[in-house]
Amino acid sequence: MPLYEYRCRSCDERFEVLQRVGEGPDSVRCPGCGGCDVTKQLSTFAAGVSASTGSASFAATGGCGGGGGGCGSGFT
Ligand SMILES: [Zn+2]
Repeated sequence: MPLYEYRCRSCDERFEVLQRVGEGPDSVRCPGCGGCDVTKQLSTFAAGVSASTGSASFAATGGCGGGGGGCGSGFT
């Protein structure tokens, strides 16, 4: 069962919920304020698990190292 990350738009609380695949946010309640105005975030948990060579793949696709030093040129 995958873990989804949600963010509450009422109190900006971030929390994670175990849900079945395809299940929407309708049954999700914010643990902070109890509200249901929540939005699903990208699952960083699942992404981290699938990319076991995380740092290497991030460097290959990331903006900092891949494009010839995006960060460095941006700051100077
Ligand atoms: Zn809340």
